[in-house]
Amino acid sequence: MSKKAEPRHLILPTVVVPPHPVWPSLSSEEKTALKTRIKALLQEKDAVLVAHYYTSADLQELAEESGGCVADSLEMARFGHEHPAATLVVAGVRFMGETAKILNIEKRVLMPDPGATCSLDEACPAELFSAFCDQYPDHTVVVYANTSAAVKARSDWVVTSGIALALARHLAARGEKILWAPDRHLGHYVQEQSGAEMVFWPGSCVVHEEFRAVALERLRRIHPQAAVLVHPESPAQVIAQADVVGSTTALIEAVVRLPNQEFIVATDKGIFSKMRQSAPGKVLLEAPTVGEGATCQSCASCPWMGMNSLQNLLTVLETGSNEILVPPELAAKALVPIRRMLDFARQLQG
Ligand code: SF4
Repeated sequence: MSKKAEPRHLILPTVVVPPHPVWPSLSSEEKTALKTRIKALLQEKDAVLVAHYYTSADLQELAEESGGCVADSLEMARFGHEHPAATLVVAGVRFMGETAKILNIEKRVLMPDPGATCSLDEACPAELFSAFCDQYPDHTVVVYANTSAAVKARSDWVVTSGIALALARHLAARGEKILWAPDRHLGHYVQEQSGAEMVFWPGSCVVHEEFRAVALERLRRIHPQAAVLVHPESPAQVIAQADVVGSTTALIEAVVRLPNQEFIVATDKGIFSKMRQSAPGKVLLEAPTVGEGATCQSCASCPWMGMNSLQNLLTVLETGSNEILVPPELAAKALVPIRRMLDFARQLQG
């Protein structure tokens, strides 16, 4: 029988959610000119663009057209590590740039905006987290990729949503108790599915936290044929209504694989770009973020991911600014649990 333990005396820092950036709109000619210039600079500087599914459609297209990749954070880490380019340009949020640097300490890592952070990372400061870990010395520390290098360095394992459940099952089978951080919704989902004994850091993602269960029920009644796809950072009552719960990659695969023509999608709407490309003709509906108790700080669009644009990507390539640096000693410590994650993911793939 599994047990849940609640965190003791934890008061997390308040996360200030920035307004969604508004970028000057570009004509299609201006966009094409910008993309052409960026592609030339990528070649000239021996650089490759690695973009997350939640960035703009323009950035995702450019990453693919220029020989880079569009992926979830696990695949971004893998791709950057295996690609021979001397410079990695990471369009995403800060922890992704840091992970790229830790895995590739000899490479230069640039980001369009290093101030693009993440509510999970912000609400899990290393010092407070370390003190929390000290309270549970007999627990294996598992942290989500959405954390700082210093938090990773304090952990035994790093995971992404794509392998979180498999790892929890693996550790539970070995009789290990898990200290999970920082996303409590993903942690509770993993605990419920794996039966592992876990204690949770109570962080959350500002985007997924906003999906509303009652409004989702209403939308499902209007679209009874739609399959419901939910990222596990969403609240439990939303996850409970899902036909598929999974990482961004798993949700994209579900749109392609399932016979349904309609899908209600509970994750950042940036993912629609890849879903439309992978399954043209299918109808994608946003899971509601409005309704009782709605705050709509993000409205299903991460404000930090929105800090990446063609404009600041060009500036970074022209100037070489915004380099991500991680002190070598810290990087060496954080590399250990990141390598474990990549090795574990490789074994899962067989
Ligand atoms: S979508 Fe959520 S988890 Fe992802 S970067 Fe934004 S705040 Fe962090």
